[in-house]
Amino acid sequence: MKNLCVEKMELGPIATNAFLIWEENGNGEAVLIDAPPFSKETVQQVLENEKLKLRAIWLTHGHWDHMGGVADFSTNKLEIIGHRDDQVMFEQPGIMSSFAIPGLELKPVQITQWVGHGEKLDLWGREIEVRHCPGHCPGNVVFWFKEEGRCFVGDVIFAGSVGRSDLPGGDFAVLKKSIHESIYTLPDDTLLHPGHGEDTRVDLEKSSNPFVQA
Ligand SMILES: [Zn+2]
Repeated sequence: MKNLCVEKMELGPIATNAFLIWEENGNGEAVLIDAPPFSKETVQQVLENEKLKLRAIWLTHGHWDHMGGVADFSTNKLEIIGHRDDQVMFEQPGIMSSFAIPGLELKPVQITQWVGHGEKLDLWGREIEVRHCPGHCPGNVVFWFKEEGRCFVGDVIFAGSVGRSDLPGGDFAVLKKSIHESIYTLPDDTLLHPGHGEDTRVDLEKSSNPFVQA
């Protein structure tokens, strides 16, 4: 298995983490996890520097600060992944205007591949497991790269914190259940890449997260 390169970029008006992933000496394809508003230029720069071509955008969830930049990419040839429980936010993002920054134009995103809990995605010969973790919003999914021991978690859990559950469709009891069943059950040394702030690790959160105790 070739080495995986992960470029973390903090982008958009409220510092959302996007991650560009590709294989070292691989086939030249890259996958973007989340596309914050105004992210295209930065992503394009990395693609050019590394001589890569964007193949897909995998969206952890439908909130504007994670999907608001998708429409800026030439999406007709891209595989765009999301969970159906956030369909209304992907397709009618204007409903999030009151939570977004004033004046930001949010363009709809057409998901090309809906994914569900337990689904396995193949990425350059490695298996990625999708886990559905509602509670922050209805359709948050996490992407677990088993071989690499990394999981991209969107806004489910942060270093020392958890995602807001006070936005429409949020529910703390549901979020807590998702974290217990789908995050704390990952191997202890799994690196967690949240949608905001610093990376963390499963064992660190299990032992010290003040909001959801293991
Ligand atoms: Zn969110």
